[in-house]
Amino acid sequence: MTAAQLDGTAAAAAIREEIAARTANLPQLSLAVVLVGEDPASAVYVRNKERACKKAGIRSVAHRLPADTSREHLLALVATLNADPEIDGILVQLPLPKHLPEREILDAIVPEKDVDGFHPVNQGRVLLGDRDALAPCTPAGIMELLRRNGHDVSGRRAVVVGRSTIVGRPLAALLISQNATVTVCHTKTADLAAEVARAEYLFVAAGRRGVVKPEWITPGCVVVDVGIHRLDDGTLTGDLDFAPCAERAAAITPVPGGIGPMTIAMLLANTLRAGLLRRGLTE
Ligand code: NAD
Repeated sequence: MTAAQLDGTAAAAAIREEIAARTANLPQLSLAVVLVGEDPASAVYVRNKERACKKAGIRSVAHRLPADTSREHLLALVATLNADPEIDGILVQLPLPKHLPEREILDAIVPEKDVDGFHPVNQGRVLLGDRDALAPCTPAGIMELLRRNGHDVSGRRAVVVGRSTIVGRPLAALLISQNATVTVCHTKTADLAAEVARAEYLFVAAGRRGVVKPEWITPGCVVVDVGIHRLDDGTLTGDLDFAPCAERAAAITPVPGGIGPMTIAMLLANTLRAGLLRRGLTE
């Protein structure tokens, strides 16, 4: 079996165009992007997000702060952005430098502008099955990519490897809302191979290369690889060994070109949604 590719680059481009068509008929939407420090990977992510905003007709307003920015200064900036009527969405790029309390900073963003979907109110809404919630971008992007490729998880066995608050947990909640039967695996899972073998839909977000062996995957499974690793030669790869997994899967996401672009597309979608909700408009 050779798997169909779930093409995140193409889906993300289509979503950007749809959003651009909508923003063209709206007052200017604006996303504030806060980057603290000089982490090179974060700088690349922020640049990509700024570029994507531009293509979707969204203004991005960057706040690049030095690595020694204080907690008080950052909280004051968030408070200013919260109150700014020109700003529709606020994104604080993670990871923050070690001395800054990440949870406290993220919780300070008003839920209505929390376009990353990390605020407890938005995470809670996702858990409650609220379709209007600003859902975390990566799990939302996964669900959207499946939808656009005609996959319906209803009644199917879904296995999620990873229970982080930004990927695994909210993904499990979104899958449950779409009537999948969900198993969430983590470092304490007793027999990962047996859990993976049961999957009709497999989602791997462990941040560990090779965490799932290709031979564990039941032929015909739909496989989503969320992991991102940069190898010494600069190439990007996922948590999975792509070629042998693709031989068994019915469909699979590549890395790069799978969930990464979808995550950015969902940031734009969340910014549009936040902007519309703030103005009392609908999509
Ligand atoms: P994390 O480190 O916060 O969480 C990893 C999870 O995987 C944990 O819950 C842990 O229990 C589980 N895990 C780790 N090793 C395991 C093992 N051997 N067996 C079973 N479970 C195991 O990571 P995260 O923030 O959720 O990110 C996961 C991966 O996804 C990373 O590679 C990250 O770079 C990538 N990521 C990609 C995107 C994207 O846009 N494509 C977005 C977010 C994260």
